Amino acid sequence: MVSKMDYDVIVIGGGPAGITSAIYTARAGLKTLLAEKGLVGGQIALTENIENYPGFESINGQELANKMLAQAKKQGVEHKLLTVKNITGEAEKIVETDEGNLTCKAVILSVGSNPRKLGVPGEDTYEGKGIHYCALCDGVMYKDKIVAVIGGGDAAVKEALYLANLAKKVIVIHRRDELRAEKDHQEDAMAKENIEFIWDTVVTEFIGTKFLEKLKLKNVKTNEESELEVNGSFTYVGHIPATDWVPVDKNKRGYIKVNHELQTSVPGIFAAGDCNEGDIAQIATAVGDGAIAGTSATNYIESLK
Ligand code: NAP
Repeated sequence: MVSKMDYDVIVIGGGPAGITSAIYTARAGLKTLLAEKGLVGGQIALTENIENYPGFESINGQELANKMLAQAKKQGVEHKLLTVKNITGEAEKIVETDEGNLTCKAVILSVGSNPRKLGVPGEDTYEGKGIHYCALCDGVMYKDKIVAVIGGGDAAVKEALYLANLAKKVIVIHRRDELRAEKDHQEDAMAKENIEFIWDTVVTEFIGTKFLEKLKLKNVKTNEESELEVNGSFTYVGHIPATDWVPVDKNKRGYIKVNHELQTSVPGIFAAGDCNEGDIAQIATAVGDGAIAGTSATNYIESLK
């Protein structure tokens, strides 16, 4: 017999996956807390225009996030600004936060991931103003324009191929003279007439006025410096899942391991969205995960009776 708990479900992280999970558990009659440490909406809150989420022809990311949160609150979800540091306990989960401990029956982790940045001057200044991390989200702004893609992995090469169908020219800038991406992705990119490659080169500064205008480049073999005029730039040098403190099994890149019900290695802890293993990080997929995790958490709590 467990004592009365603060909540039935605590959802950690207020991006589309977390908000959707919370809507599902609240609608199932479960007392639900959505804990978010900063900006509600996660990655989408940083996106100017979203045009690939059904129901909204074009919507500002922050506006979509606010709408999602308002819907969750209307369904009875409680929302608090809290930073979670750990989860302990078994049948009674203890969620340790910067404002003390909270107890619940099930936890949904939707802590997301962040694109790795280069850490060079101008990067923060021009984010969203020429510097982007998602071609599917923002590529359409560069129809018939010149864009750079930074990185040499699968994400960089696949997104370069996607951008090549929109932009006039795509210039892939890679720090080595060989791509890391799968062979067939490489071959497709090499065969594309409007994709060019700049090898052995890193970006050392993003330069512009109101918007990004050019990249400062350095050849790592010759140390020669140059400038490249572009209309936009997409960085794909990996993602960092925000999972360092999360007490469940993760893969070697830090992504959470889940089964098809989005159950983690710890019974009663579920995970949804970009913090999980998987190739596609889109609002629609995060929302789908949220529906699965919310339903699985509801079924888990039902099974405790
Ligand atoms: P990734 O495979 O880790 O590639 C990151 C790329 O960025 C590498 O080319 C790396 O260069 C470069 N890089 C890293 N730090 C850099 C820095 N500071 N400055 C300049 N370049 C830097 O990451 P990813 O492409 O995001 O892919 C992540 C995982 O998802 C991979 O396992 C990938 O196969 C998978 N994925 C698969 C698909 C698919 O369609 N199958 C699509 C996307 C992603 P080096 O090569 O020199 O290390």
